[in-house]
Amino acid sequence: MSDVRQHAEDVHEQFSDHLEIDLEDVEERFRTLVDEYKVPIDEARRSVTNHYLDEAGLEREDISRGGSEEVRIEDVDEPEQWIDLTAKVIELWEPRSDSVAQVGLLGDPTGTIKFTKWAKSDLPSLEEGGVYDLRNVVTDEYQGRYSVKLNSTTVIEELDEEIEVGDDTSEIEGALIDMQSGSGLIKRCPTEDCTRVLQNGRCSEHGEVEGEFDLRIKAVVDDGIDAHEVIFDKDATEELTGISLEEAKDMAMDALDTTVVADEIGAEILGTYYRIEGPTFGRYVLADEVEELDGPADAEDLLIKARSM
Ligand SMILES: [Zn+2]
Repeated sequence: MSDVRQHAEDVHEQFSDHLEIDLEDVEERFRTLVDEYKVPIDEARRSVTNHYLDEAGLEREDISRGGSEEVRIEDVDEPEQWIDLTAKVIELWEPRSDSVAQVGLLGDPTGTIKFTKWAKSDLPSLEEGGVYDLRNVVTDEYQGRYSVKLNSTTVIEELDEEIEVGDDTSEIEGALIDMQSGSGLIKRCPTEDCTRVLQNGRCSEHGEVEGEFDLRIKAVVDDGIDAHEVIFDKDATEELTGISLEEAKDMAMDALDTTVVADEIGAEILGTYYRIEGPTFGRYVLADEVEELDGPADAEDLLIKARSM
């Protein structure tokens, strides 16, 4: 089925409750715009939609969207869902692969999410700071972190409005009680845009590769109510432990074993209380700011309370 036909069917479905509307007429309108006037498909869609809105005396909000569902970023919790988002482009990043046209961060009042726009999709460029209605994007998940992909069926409409971007920063205060496997000196796949952590020298996607060393900690921090999973990247790990990547490599080389690094880090940080602040990605908090505490803040309160009783 051609894209035009698909768009025509979507529009037809959107208006079928409101108008006596013939699918062939809708498609004809698209064909005229796209084939004769060479209008890009998403502009054609806007134009055709506006025509029927006028005819029906409706506002855009009155019609169903057909197909995918309008969601908030914080509600994205499942991969491979077709959704609609209204979001602001917070940042654009440098794509690391030719197959990607644009990559960056979207935000709405409930949080932020990474997006990838495929080069093949032939969609218009998103501008940093622009607010867009994005219909038919697909959710994806990698290591508990969600993202959305813009594909050839995605419809992009720039909106002339400002939206507030929510703050999805978390702050945790608690004891670092556990380090998960995959902490310490690790190797990542060097393949462009991959960076998966190698298991026994193998990338789950690219097989056996010459990995690149990296430092990280996947920690569990208990705030007395919940256990939170916190990731410390290389910089955060170096700052937290005082062990640099180079020193970690030397330690591993001396011992002929990379696990000595995790052991050393564990001895340094396990049982220590921290205040950690950073953005939330799926179930992980990325440690941006870390402060070591003397002990549980509550203990002192309890002590004061106990004395006053
Ligand atoms: Zn790989």
